Amino acid sequence: MVKTPQTLSTGRKVLLLSCKHCQTLLTDRAMKAMLVARPSVHLYSTDWEPMNCKSAVDEQDRLRISCSCELQRTACSCCGNIVGYYIVHPCNRCISQNTNGHKWVFHLEDVEEVSRLNLHGNGYLYWDTLKSNEPDDLLFLVKSYPNHIVINR
Ligand SMILES: [Zn+2]
Ligand SMILES: [Zn+2]
Repeated sequence: MVKTPQTLSTGRKVLLLSCKHCQTLLTDRAMKAMLVARPSVHLYSTDWEPMNCKSAVDEQDRLRISCSCELQRTACSCCGNIVGYYIVHPCNRCISQNTNGHKWVFHLEDVEEVSRLNLHGNGYLYWDTLKSNEPDDLLFLVKSYPNHIVINR
């Protein structure tokens, strides 16, 4: 599993992640994270099921991380490239650690990040102010119209 880097003094920004290969939006509520078992490995994680993703089974190519979490690869449903993984069952080692509880993880090299702005549009949105038990507007919008939202850059 993953945890939040404590060195981020600027706070934990809420990030939009899109597939690096085809620019499809994958989640609107991700954060920077690091592997519990190997803190030098940096990733992204999210607490909600991402959009435009499907699970990918590839027996030949087992995931290797430094713990025994049971994982399932996640592919972009638009272009099919692997973009991360889903933690099916956390291992005992991870459960005993201070993780961020996020089950969906994305590789740095397969996604692109954009920082989300707050409701007023005058600053960034931080996880501290994001209400995790309420759907937020953009997520609802994106889930309703998955093909109509493109991140322009
Ligand atoms: Zn683990
Ligand atoms: Zn893609």
